[in-house]
Amino acid sequence: MSTETLYIKSIQSTTKDAPVRVTMQMGTNEHDLFFESKDIQLANNMDAFLTLALLPGMKHTDILVVDGEVSPRLLESINTLSDIYRSWHPSLHSVKIEKATPVKKTDTKEQRVGVFFSGGVDSFYTLLKNRDEITDLIFVHGFDVDIDDNNLHEKTLTMVRDVGSHFGKRVIEVKTNLRLSFLEKYVGWGILGHGPALTCVGHLLYPYFKRIYIAASYAYPNLHRPSGSHPLIDPLWGTETLEFVHDGCEANRIQKVAMISEFDKALQSLRVCYENRDGAYNCGQCGKCLSTMISLQAVDALDRCTTFNTGLDIKRVSQLLILDSGRINLTTSLEALEQNKDYGELYQALKLVLNRPQWRTKLMRETRRIKSQLSNVFTRIKPGKD
Ligand SMILES: [Zn+2]
Repeated sequence: MSTETLYIKSIQSTTKDAPVRVTMQMGTNEHDLFFESKDIQLANNMDAFLTLALLPGMKHTDILVVDGEVSPRLLESINTLSDIYRSWHPSLHSVKIEKATPVKKTDTKEQRVGVFFSGGVDSFYTLLKNRDEITDLIFVHGFDVDIDDNNLHEKTLTMVRDVGSHFGKRVIEVKTNLRLSFLEKYVGWGILGHGPALTCVGHLLYPYFKRIYIAASYAYPNLHRPSGSHPLIDPLWGTETLEFVHDGCEANRIQKVAMISEFDKALQSLRVCYENRDGAYNCGQCGKCLSTMISLQAVDALDRCTTFNTGLDIKRVSQLLILDSGRINLTTSLEALEQNKDYGELYQALKLVLNRPQWRTKLMRETRRIKSQLSNVFTRIKPGKD
């Protein structure tokens, strides 16, 4: 265990519309973070920075210095949050929080209800399920859309604003460098960081919101695994005036896909790809794209979905190397395909993938990785290349 201290240094701006800035000082390393939005005035809120700093603090320090006002409810939840995280990740330890001044949040201006929205299956499901209550879509530039990827950012923001306009919701875009410039330097994104990152942004929207939905990735039968966003964790980040709701665990992947397929706008906007090969919105070739296309096919909706570059290639499906959480989603698709006799070839290909022993899948993944590395080396040393 290190004996370093993590200092949160909030920077007060005198200009009304200036970005919110904070410096996280981990030992001798300083991380300058910014948060900006053209759609709303963000609050310089220490609750946000404590939320963001807790996990890096639990990983690398003993003391977390929070020199400012913090919600007493959030402060009281820190012990429970620490207990849960430590039970999942024994490498984490409790940190002592110093200098925090408990001050209740009361200054509510509006009672808006938001959802973090990126256009994927989970966030579409939560938006559509709660569409009568939700007033705002919150899109964060710098999380799953890289902060420097202007092309993908423009396409994604256009989609989010179009969906907002269609369903009569406001759209708030928040741009931040917190992921690459701080959080991922200390903790993993999927397994730990993304939940606190979302709730950090949520706290910056104080005092406009009373509730913000965070779309679940897993259904209730599959919640035994640790995750950065979880129904045990997310509500604990709330304050006296702002509630975070982990939503959608009642539905598995195929049930979510079936529900959103009832809405043409969802099928014309769906965005699931993280690889974005050749700058594609959905490349149609990566595991996430193929997995979603299989689910859409299983509920007879793929032909109405207009956001994939290519058709579903059965050969690519049979070459999928799926482990862990990906298997859970595809198992629900296999069950649906078993009932749908129109896609026998797809059913057989997917069955083959899911019946493959995990050790063999791991071995094939490793072989594929080495081949890809060798190919890159040969490309670099090819005559004629600088
Ligand atoms: Zn893809």
